[in-house]
Amino acid sequence: MKRLIKENIAKIGTYQPGKPIEALKREYGIKEAVKLASNENPLGPSPKAVEAIMASVNGINRYPDSHGFYLKEKLSQKLGVKSDSIFLGNGSDEIIQLIAQAFLLPGEEVIMGDPTFSFYQMVVVAAEGKEVRVPLKNFSYDLSSMADRITPQTKLIFINTPLNPTGTIVKEKDFEEFLEQVPSDVILVLDEAYGEYATDKSFPDFLSYLGSSKKMFILRTFSKIYGLAGLRIGYGIAQPYLVSCLNKIKGPFNTNSLAQEAALAALDDEEHLKKSLANNQDGLTYLYSELDKLGTEYIPTQANFFLIKIGENALGVYEALLKEGVIVRTMTGYGLHNYLRISVGLPAENEKFIKALKEVVSRKQE
Ligand SMILES: *Cc1c(COP(=O)(O)O)cnc(C)c1O
Repeated sequence: MKRLIKENIAKIGTYQPGKPIEALKREYGIKEAVKLASNENPLGPSPKAVEAIMASVNGINRYPDSHGFYLKEKLSQKLGVKSDSIFLGNGSDEIIQLIAQAFLLPGEEVIMGDPTFSFYQMVVVAAEGKEVRVPLKNFSYDLSSMADRITPQTKLIFINTPLNPTGTIVKEKDFEEFLEQVPSDVILVLDEAYGEYATDKSFPDFLSYLGSSKKMFILRTFSKIYGLAGLRIGYGIAQPYLVSCLNKIKGPFNTNSLAQEAALAALDDEEHLKKSLANNQDGLTYLYSELDKLGTEYIPTQANFFLIKIGENALGVYEALLKEGVIVRTMTGYGLHNYLRISVGLPAENEKFIKALKEVVSRKQE
């Protein structure tokens, strides 16, 4: 009998998402739970996006606009790039997958951080590419070591900034030095899923490099600060030729009509964006100060999540927090065994987390 699954695909493990609130309630018999595990917007979606969904829901018997004309037009105006430089995806995850599918030949090398977003590894293995993993330095990309690893076989370089799971950013000056060393037959994938949260002045404006001779996809999403994770919509900005390559292999209707409408409305809701950013800033100020009081180490972040250092018992603390009704994220999948990742929640959720952490830590010391 012939082999069914391709050998490289058989090796891939399944993605481990954060535990859903419903699952925790069911499994632990807990009534009130908060989820600070998946970097979602705790304020919910923009009310304008919800309105737009309601207004268009009766049209879902029709196929969506395959090209997402209006959403691309709006993004084009907002970003100052041409529509044909924009690619819409079923979440930016889909764009990451299509990039590997369209450009990566078997055996070609892909440079990424170590640890990295597990989905990068998955798409590379699926395309039979070769992972080249460069250890982080001080929880940040080591761009000069990454540049050193470029060879004639390099096809893609994944950079995620602010970086999931550490929250650190790539700085403009370091990026420019790095960019000079990237050959023009290498495609840079600049994943800015959390870019809207970054307030550091040295955060680069990647759009300003689009006109250079370097090839790049700048990836953004409506799943994080825009609060539309459940709808699955994101976009990539790239040179028109690169976009046209992805258009050849995308599913004809890869982004759905409700997502397109909601994204359009969300882009107009500056107020929700501001509130979301303020909630994050205030939440971080509160969490940092409480963790300082507890003497718990953490990595300062430019995103809506951050790492706290627990030590060898991180998994035990994770389990104990679950029993207190607080879902955070373990970092074993990233090889950061002593850490937990916390997403910033609403004030009451942050307080519940701190209370639970105090409870769990004091119990450990008894
Ligand atoms: C959340 C996230 C994304 C975006 O995912 P969507 O598919 O747009 O929901 C992309 N990259 C990283 C690193 C992320 O954490």
